[in-house]
Amino acid sequence: MAKCPICGKPVEQAYRPFCSERCKKIDLNRWLSDVYKIPASVTPPDEDENSSS
Ligand SMILES: [Zn+2]
Repeated sequence: MAKCPICGKPVEQAYRPFCSERCKKIDLNRWLSDVYKIPASVTPPDEDENSSS
């Protein structure tokens, strides 16, 4: 049986792949903070996009 990746409890069908709304939000927050943690050294990919017009 699958376990919640956040707390390790059995997964609840209504909240898959988590065990509860709470863990779902925790995972979302982790994901969002990961996104914002990306270093500023990564340059935007659309920098030279308009050079072909
Ligand atoms: Zn959980």
